[in-house]
Amino acid sequence: MEDRLIQAAELICRSGRVMALTGAGISLESGIPTFRGAQGLWEKYDPEEYATIQAFRRNPAKVWGMLIKLDQTLREARPNPAHFALARLEEMGRLSALVTQNIDGLHQLAGSKRVVEFHGTGRRLRCLKCDRVYPREEVCLDSLPPCCACGGLLKPDVILFGEGIPEEATKAALAQAAVCRVILVVGTSASVAPACHLPLLVKQAGGKVVEINPEPSPLTDFITDYFFQAEASHILPDLVEQVQRRLEV
Ligand code: NAD
Repeated sequence: MEDRLIQAAELICRSGRVMALTGAGISLESGIPTFRGAQGLWEKYDPEEYATIQAFRRNPAKVWGMLIKLDQTLREARPNPAHFALARLEEMGRLSALVTQNIDGLHQLAGSKRVVEFHGTGRRLRCLKCDRVYPREEVCLDSLPPCCACGGLLKPDVILFGEGIPEEATKAALAQAAVCRVILVVGTSASVAPACHLPLLVKQAGGKVVEINPEPSPLTDFITDYFFQAEASHILPDLVEQVQRRLEV
């Protein structure tokens, strides 16, 4: 492990541009459950009934019943050492962009600046009728579903199944994937498209894939160059520490 960690750190140091793709696994240790797996949200809530835009429109109060619990979890969550390590990598000038599938805002709370929120954010609400956006803390959720001043229905500003990825986020992520020489893939099952295509694009353009996950993903035996089978909060701080040491020499 130590040798490969050093090799990955050297790769990051000598590669011009490095990006990261993060998923729910990086925030698990901040107390936010993943969707898949034994403790995952989908064990309790059928995604067909709770995570599609059609289900939301059909029965917003029911879907909000689940969302309010997620909202409470998001409000209590704090970044963990893995989020801070990526923020430090950016501060050191070694991370060009961080594309996250997460909607928890923890990368920004840790200090990351160049964050592309591929699936939106739970820290804002958006009106389905007039498109007005509200910071989460400005909306009272005592009675569900919440409504906009125009009378429209408010939904967390996240992408449900059946909705498109925001155009700006797609453009930014694709532009980075085209020029990055390394992609750090952290805490994602790489099963949600199109986010899971980003590592493929980097690889096709001649870049390298460094993956951190306690479980192998479909990428691991397919395109991953360095696989660290571990929790993100254990390995990322060490990796970033190794990068820093090499930059100081
Ligand atoms: P996923 O639930 O499909 O997969 C999570 C992955 O994280 C798994 O591969 C798992 O092995 C790995 N993992 C578990 N613990 C880890 C740890 N400590 N360190 C590193 N990896 C760990 O999540 P996904 O791939 O992000 O895709 C699912 C969708 O779920 C995304 O669209 C995302 O928006 C949404 N989601 C977001 C949050 C959040 O914002 N925190 C939480 C749950 C789901």
